[in-house]
Amino acid sequence: MGGQWRPAAGGDRIDVIDPVTEQVLGQVAAGDARDVDSAVGAARAALPGWAATDPVERAAVLAAARDLMVAGRGGIAATVGAELGAPPAFAAAVHADLPIAVMGSFAALAAEHPFEERVGNSRVFQEPVGVVGAITPWNYPLHQIVAKVAPALAAGCTVVLKPAEDTPLVAQLFAAILDEAGLPAGVFNLVTGLGPVAGQALAGHPDVDLVSFTGSTAVGRRIGAAAGGAVKRVALELGGKSANVILPGADLARAVNVGVANVFANSGQTCSAWTRMLIDAERYDEAVEIAAAAAAKYVPGERLGPVVNARQRERVRGYIRQGVAEGARIVAGGPEAPEGMATGYFVRPTVFADVRPEMTIAQEEIFGPVVVLIRYEDEEDALRIANGTVYGLAGAVWGADEDAAVAFARRMDTGQVDINGGRFNPKAPFGGYKQSGVGRELGAHGLAEYLQTKSLQF
Ligand code: NAD
Repeated sequence: MGGQWRPAAGGDRIDVIDPVTEQVLGQVAAGDARDVDSAVGAARAALPGWAATDPVERAAVLAAARDLMVAGRGGIAATVGAELGAPPAFAAAVHADLPIAVMGSFAALAAEHPFEERVGNSRVFQEPVGVVGAITPWNYPLHQIVAKVAPALAAGCTVVLKPAEDTPLVAQLFAAILDEAGLPAGVFNLVTGLGPVAGQALAGHPDVDLVSFTGSTAVGRRIGAAAGGAVKRVALELGGKSANVILPGADLARAVNVGVANVFANSGQTCSAWTRMLIDAERYDEAVEIAAAAAAKYVPGERLGPVVNARQRERVRGYIRQGVAEGARIVAGGPEAPEGMATGYFVRPTVFADVRPEMTIAQEEIFGPVVVLIRYEDEEDALRIANGTVYGLAGAVWGADEDAAVAFARRMDTGQVDINGGRFNPKAPFGGYKQSGVGRELGAHGLAEYLQTKSLQF
């Protein structure tokens, strides 16, 4: 913080565990409220200088950071690969390349964004919100950080980041990159530590102007309530239970195969994963067969990594047992440890058939390699099922008629829908309807979260 590495005020450390070997990879400082207070102080002190810089200067620092990320791609992939257990190819292609793309998009946006405009007889200025408290989860460790820090810096805000305690090493690497890119001391500050200690202190700090949180709905709800009490800006990216709707005319094999791949990527630890696959009654059995065959290709320890920690593994296995208890049928995988794998937090890639929309496994976020296949009778039934959870983060629609697929997607209560597979767009707004969150990340909408407007009348 403030441009210097420091031990935690209390001197405590947290072990970082490799989820494949269950061995300690390293240690980081376990910061507490005192460390958060110092970091917020450093961010406050740096704010006037950074907020006053020309956006083009801020863009140049972000572009330099992006170039350093490209040069350090191997190190980023290796670090996330170790602390999250991500297989090497996925670590490079997603955990490194995704944040590189996002950093690049905000470097461009910072340079292009109209921070000032004329509206009739007024000049309207978009000004930084101030000191940002960013709290991120472990599932896409660097992407989640960049999706908050890059737009905050582009806007002219200063930042205190509290990354997930399971994956703090890539956050340290990123701090070094920002420093090397020329970011002035105090503009970005990192406090590693536990959620209920460092995270809670940051979320509740009176001198933080905006809290941007990604994580569980339970913690997000508390952070939102506290921010409401303090009349403070808040952005929440929370859980999901997204629907993958395969309309009757769709290419079934492609839709099911891509759908399964979407869920099993990152061991099912993707908030926007299409965890509910909706298939018409006529082609349901065929879809079940395709999905089971697709799951067989996800060999734990090869293409499928572990989940992040022992607690998550037990949680995911508990959901699988609950699915069986509620009458769903396992057609691939199951709650047992994968054969011959006594070490590592692995879960078997699991496909459930005969799932009814009201079952726990069709309503709650599992956050593991588990996909549920639900039968629908007609499009209205599919829409009712798709919209029938408390969440609304993402989704997919597959159909031979693209206009019909778009019309269906427009009726879904969700923030982002991929049509016939879609392609990731780092500039498209990402965020939730309903209990999936408040606010948007990425692109111009993501930048707007970190800005407040002032108008001068003439
Ligand atoms: P989590 O809510 O426990 O932790 C997220 C972050 O919040 C971590 O940094 C943690 O240390 C911190 N935290 C924990 N308790 C806190 C508290 N009381 N006050 C302040 N901070 C606290 O979630 P998790 O288990 O790490 O992540 C998994 C969840 O996150 C899933 O539900 C998933 O869907 C959700 N998620 C959502 C998105 C999204 O973009 N919408 C992205 C990734 C993950």
